[in-house]
Amino acid sequence: MDERRVAVVGAGAVGTTAAHDLADRGRAVTLYEAETVAAGASGRAAGICYDAFAEDIDAAVADRALSRFRTLDADPSFDWSFTPRPYVWLARDGDARRAAAISEQVPRMQAHGRRVELLDGDDLATEFPALRADIAVAAVARDAGSADPGAYTDAMAERAVAAGVTLREETPVELRAGDEHPHVVTADGSTTYETVVVAAGAHTARLLGDAGLPIPVKPYRVQAAITESTPLAERSPQLYDATGGYYCRPRGDGLLVGDGTEPVERDPDDWDRDADDWFRADCIEHLRAAFGGSTADGDNAAVPELDRAWAGLCTATPDGNPLLGERAPGVVVATGWQGHGFMRAPALGERVARGVCDGEWLDPFDPARFDGDESFDIVEGMVVEES
Ligand SMILES: Cc1cc2nc3c(=O)[nH]c(=O)nc-3n(C[C@H](O)[C@H](O)[C@H](O)COP(=O)(O)OP(=O)(O)OC[C@H]3O[C@@H](n4cnc5c(N)ncnc54)[C@H](O)[C@@H]3O)c2cc1C
Repeated sequence: MDERRVAVVGAGAVGTTAAHDLADRGRAVTLYEAETVAAGASGRAAGICYDAFAEDIDAAVADRALSRFRTLDADPSFDWSFTPRPYVWLARDGDARRAAAISEQVPRMQAHGRRVELLDGDDLATEFPALRADIAVAAVARDAGSADPGAYTDAMAERAVAAGVTLREETPVELRAGDEHPHVVTADGSTTYETVVVAAGAHTARLLGDAGLPIPVKPYRVQAAITESTPLAERSPQLYDATGGYYCRPRGDGLLVGDGTEPVERDPDDWDRDADDWFRADCIEHLRAAFGGSTADGDNAAVPELDRAWAGLCTATPDGNPLLGERAPGVVVATGWQGHGFMRAPALGERVARGVCDGEWLDPFDPARFDGDESFDIVEGMVVEES
């Protein structure tokens, strides 16, 4: 068998990046996608990107991802754009627990070289006057930005094909492991590869489990919405209200709002892709909490109506860290991003290529730290707690 043959399963932000980088490193890559490019979470994500992580490895991965996003943004042949925009996260008055957590996180992020700062209510009102400033403490990440995740994934798939990747859309696969080399099984038959990278998003655990390689990853449902056009879009940073449990960012001439994390394991083949009525109602309340009433900028009492809303699946692990590495000889897993997969995709895909080509993996993300049959609760990725 040609030792350089690699299959990547799943054409999301991570799978397309991994496929491209593997081809760039001389591997003969086939990228299998059950539906079309970006049909999974990558086509449904909010596109908030930041490096505000308190653990060294997370900060390094996010730093690399943002740097690569900026390089791609400056490349005229890559049809996609990255908009630099600060990311503010905050705890409201009376929420001493989350205020303490934010105050404790920021110096740890700074120690990893992140350009983040603590802000008090006056600082916040001065810099972001459209925000309601009833805050206990806020922090801002200066190097953050936002982007269209589906457009990134499409552009990266195109670049992967240009680099020699064979892209097979509408081709759901199964995995066979246990022989000397893993096999990918499609409706056309079985193909042997030196390495199979499973980056199948919410389907990853099922795909590997069916091949006798269980991993402790649970899909969970999250929701997002976009408002009608609003002048607030020009005046808002990217925002995470830790007290209210929602996030918000400008998108075009509207705002994108999200929360609705349901800590319930979902069947990746049977879940509701439409947003719930309770979520739509919550979004209006979130917008009022963020911008409503009297702010330093005047009276924003009229918050915009929602234009559309949707749901998608994210993936949780027992410790909140990803699973990125070899699950069995020749079988690589890349999932468990806890709602932070897009912002790290350029670095995660690159890490897959380094692991496959050089054997260099990141120990804290090693899938071998679990047996695969762990029971655990789903904890949402953006939660702000003291370490
Ligand atoms: C509403 C929402 C908001 C989000 N907001 C953000 C955000 O602001 N920032 C951020 O960083 N992240 C965000 N996320 C998370 C982000 O979308 C994911 O972490 C990321 O897109 C995962 O990318 P991926 O390539 O691993 O998986 P996916 O994009 O899910 O791709 C997996 C692909 O595998 C394919 N596949 C599955 N099974 C098979 C099979 N058997 N054979 C072949 N192909 C298969 C699927 O069709 C899919 O296209 C959000 C997610 C949602 C749903």
